Amino acid sequence: MPQPAINPWVRRFEEADTPHLSAEVVICGYGGAGACAALEARRAGADVLVLERAAGGGGSTAMSSCEMYLGGSGGTRLQRDIGLADSTENMIAYLQECFGSQGDEERIRRYAEGAAEHFDWVEALGVPYKRAAFLERTVVPLSDESLLFTGNERAYPFNRIAEPVPRGHVPSKEGDEGGRMFMQALMATVEAEGVRIQANARVLALLQDDTGRVRGVVAKIDGTECNILASRAVILSAGGFIMNRAMLERYAPEVLPYGEPYGNQWDMGDGIQMGMAAGGNIINMNECFLSFAFYPPAKLTYGLLVNSGGQRFINEDAYLARLGHHAAQQRKQEVYLLVQNEDYEPTMYMESRRMAGTGDSIAEVEGEAGLPAGALQATVAYYNKHAEHNEDPLFHKAAEWVKPLDKPPYALISYSPQDVQYQLGDGPGYLMFTLGGLQVQTTGEVLSPAGRVIPGLFAAGRTAAGLPRTSAGYASGMSVGDASFFGRLAGCAAAGHVKAEG
Ligand SMILES: Cc1cc2nc3c(=O)[nH]c(=O)nc-3n(C[C@H](O)[C@H](O)[C@H](O)COP(=O)(O)OP(=O)(O)OC[C@H]3O[C@@H](n4cnc5c(N)ncnc54)[C@H](O)[C@@H]3O)c2cc1C
Repeated sequence: MPQPAINPWVRRFEEADTPHLSAEVVICGYGGAGACAALEARRAGADVLVLERAAGGGGSTAMSSCEMYLGGSGGTRLQRDIGLADSTENMIAYLQECFGSQGDEERIRRYAEGAAEHFDWVEALGVPYKRAAFLERTVVPLSDESLLFTGNERAYPFNRIAEPVPRGHVPSKEGDEGGRMFMQALMATVEAEGVRIQANARVLALLQDDTGRVRGVVAKIDGTECNILASRAVILSAGGFIMNRAMLERYAPEVLPYGEPYGNQWDMGDGIQMGMAAGGNIINMNECFLSFAFYPPAKLTYGLLVNSGGQRFINEDAYLARLGHHAAQQRKQEVYLLVQNEDYEPTMYMESRRMAGTGDSIAEVEGEAGLPAGALQATVAYYNKHAEHNEDPLFHKAAEWVKPLDKPPYALISYSPQDVQYQLGDGPGYLMFTLGGLQVQTTGEVLSPAGRVIPGLFAAGRTAAGLPRTSAGYASGMSVGDASFFGRLAGCAAAGHVKAEG
């Protein structure tokens, strides 16, 4: 008789040996989501144990710039202090346009309603935020301002739907150390308030009882498998699966030829696999953030992005993740930037691109690059005709970035994935991380395919399908913002079980 397949990610609680450890709330992963969940659960009175696979906490959140996408409620304290207003409805309108039918309306509303308070919570940890904005087109301010535009707010079609407001909040320090600053302040508070942390502890499996309730985990600590009971809840906050080649091949195979994984080494999808094994549903698994950071310098935005047919496909003033999404849709992901000499400077975040053609005329560039004869010339002629009047009727690039390309020499630079090497990437390709995971309620409770809650199981951060659902609408700050905000909600809800049942 065939034996049932053994699922390594879940074990029968009834068969578990004597537990080595126990807590009311057990958290798997001590990155941004896990630390926020731990602090809120602890503050609500729960005994909390965090298990972390690495030698210390931080995860991808500590590697990040820690831009958080926050606003609404009249404005965060930082927005208001520098004279900016931001209504919740304006933020919701923007976020809905970002994710369209892939967005989760309830999650968007909950986030927009709570984001300003979330800023206060983060600042109260001791994370410094300077009351100053950097409003030029960039990715991260390398000076010490704490507010910037991090998405498509000023670009078409978003600028027709919502009032553009800068919502990227970043810790203040020259350079790019926001994630480290945030996680240091957060972990110091978590530990000072009495959360127990066990590092070098890889969670291997969930313990689930015969009724379907999650009762704890099995973790490998110092080479020994330990049963750890969670009398109230387990929260999975183990990041996404961008470092797991087999999972990418299965769930997001289309990005593999052109994406370059961006994250910490333990973004192996363990949390997602455990949640699935316990009966959780997974959604949005084929979606990834894709970076096409051809800027800064901002003045490259005067150029034209074209595909292998010499045709434009996007307004060039869009945010890097939207550019990545649309670049990936072009035939063989072949994309080029046509730029005139006066606007040229090397792209800041990339070590290399490929010069596809140069010349004193568009025809010369087109010929050298091997584009179809006349195609690029037609594109530029049409663009220039309207640029004379500061208009872009095809893609609606904002007027400040529109001017005729009529000052040779010109260059056509290939930003096709195989020609692009980021400073932070190990190989060529567009930097990427995953946006799919366990389907959860806004409280973090994990849902089955039938929409039922898996008792005792929560998830947050990139282990869950959260606020950001597609690169087309992603803005910097939506992942750390989501992980920290919904991590807190999961911690509160898990502790709510303590209050209700304890
Ligand atoms: C360089 C870089 C810059 C970025 N900048 C930004 C930014 O400015 N703003 C933004 O919004 N997003 C940014 N992102 C994305 C963002 O940082 C992440 O998506 C987000 O921080 C993920 O948070 P998390 O809590 O889900 O995961 P993490 O912070 O990665 O935490 C997961 C933790 O779980 C642990 N873990 C994994 N498996 C196990 C296991 N089996 N048992 C125990 N522990 C386990 C990991 O070791 C890790 O510590 C950036 C990403 C990178 C790589």
